[in-house]
Amino acid sequence: MKRVVLFGYRGTGKTAIGTVLARRLGVPFIDTDALIEQKAGRTIPAIFRDDGEERFRALERDAIAGLPASDVVIGTGGGVVMDPANMEQLRAHSSCVLLTADPATIGHRLAQAPRPALTGLPPKKEIAEMLERRRPAYAAAADFCVNTSRTTNEAAAARILGLLEHGTIPAPAREAAFRWFAATPLLAPERERLGELLTGPGHDPQTRFLGVAGWPCGHSRSPLLFNRLFLEYQLNCHYTRFEAPAVGPIMETARLIDAKGLSVTIPFKQDVMACLDEIDDAAREIGAVNTVVFACGTAYGWNTDWLGIKKPLAGHAGSRAVLLGAGGVAAAAAYALTDLGMEVTILNRTPEKARALAERSGCRWGAWDDFDRMNPDLIVNATPIGMQPDTHSPLRDDQLKKEMTVFDLVYTPPVTPLIAAARKAGCTTITGTEVFIHQAREQFRLFFGIDVPDTVIREILA
Ligand code: NAP
Repeated sequence: MKRVVLFGYRGTGKTAIGTVLARRLGVPFIDTDALIEQKAGRTIPAIFRDDGEERFRALERDAIAGLPASDVVIGTGGGVVMDPANMEQLRAHSSCVLLTADPATIGHRLAQAPRPALTGLPPKKEIAEMLERRRPAYAAAADFCVNTSRTTNEAAAARILGLLEHGTIPAPAREAAFRWFAATPLLAPERERLGELLTGPGHDPQTRFLGVAGWPCGHSRSPLLFNRLFLEYQLNCHYTRFEAPAVGPIMETARLIDAKGLSVTIPFKQDVMACLDEIDDAAREIGAVNTVVFACGTAYGWNTDWLGIKKPLAGHAGSRAVLLGAGGVAAAAAYALTDLGMEVTILNRTPEKARALAERSGCRWGAWDDFDRMNPDLIVNATPIGMQPDTHSPLRDDQLKKEMTVFDLVYTPPVTPLIAAARKAGCTTITGTEVFIHQAREQFRLFFGIDVPDTVIREILA
């Protein structure tokens, strides 16, 4: 039997339900908090009080790394989801169940069996604050969700057993979804694979589905990357392509197969926002979502493009930057550059669009020809100029100076005409592939709570 890992905030019933579930499955139940206390010979409040949270987290990581790989039910500490190293360990070869309860029920249960405070806040406020803070991490931890607010431990355990045996996608939904995919431009090998996983006689009801949503998206490297990462991290997931001319049917199909998440690409980054329940502040300010996480009936929207742009620029905080372009990816770039405290001027072929983006992102703006008066430290190209098959550079060679850093967001080809010219001029260069790598890393963390080293992604994409 694969191991079953229960996640959730304190007071959601992990220990009580885990004990019943383990008994019904005929396997041991291990509570990681109890294991830590046993190993340390002290209670968790005593460890926190005497040695601090960092020491507790180190003990927790050790305990989790030593857990059996199968035939066990594991109950975890409420904060375990915040540590990517723990999530990497716990998610491997596991069925992950998130237990939830409404804040009033949690408050009531904690009042019966008080535990040490996590913050200096009054109990009700603490629960609200902690649930909010951990929401993305709990969403990432959830393959299945069980709300324990108004149920007995026996009934909750029975519900989990049902999910393990039958999954969450009824047979007619699997068939309808497969018919939908079969009518999209999926290539034959992927269509056959999806057919086996959705409707084949040996399909595993616990397999979770993810994919890239776009039109077109046949060129996307995300299926290759994510499916290889699923193997690397032993996740029972499959990543496919949701390729259709409108985002509505894509979202319907994703919900039909209880998808775990979507990477959203051109032309749906704006349109998808209307289909979501909650949108992260950064994505809302940028005006685009490129990552959707589904958990416990809620669809969350995020933007990881800006993080993918910010990461390679970590050493450039405070620079004077020129941003070329004022479209979708330029909005994410403007957000990243201003977040790094840069003085940003947006130049665009259509100056009014530069002005509109500058006004909402706190930047300066100008017309394309203004470049010659700027002498920036950093140039970011957010136009498609130089993208295959185009062979132009957005700037003349004589506009590039060796003191400049040139970042081209275009990544096909890997070395664009702008990057080639910048290297010739002696500039520091950053290629668009870096954005893809870092945004995908952030996406994987939002999907599963696991932090993949850049090197692993680079190796897969090489
Ligand atoms: P978009 O919303 O269509 O915006 C395109 C921008 O480029 C607009 O400001 C447009 O100016 C300008 N532009 C287009 N053609 C031009 C030309 N011939 N001369 C001067 N300006 C021109 O596109 P997007 O979604 O922002 O994507 C832009 C590029 O970013 C894509 O082509 C892609 O290569 C790259 N990208 C990279 C990544 C990555 O992971 N590395 C992710 C996303 C996108 P007007 O306002 O005047 O039309």
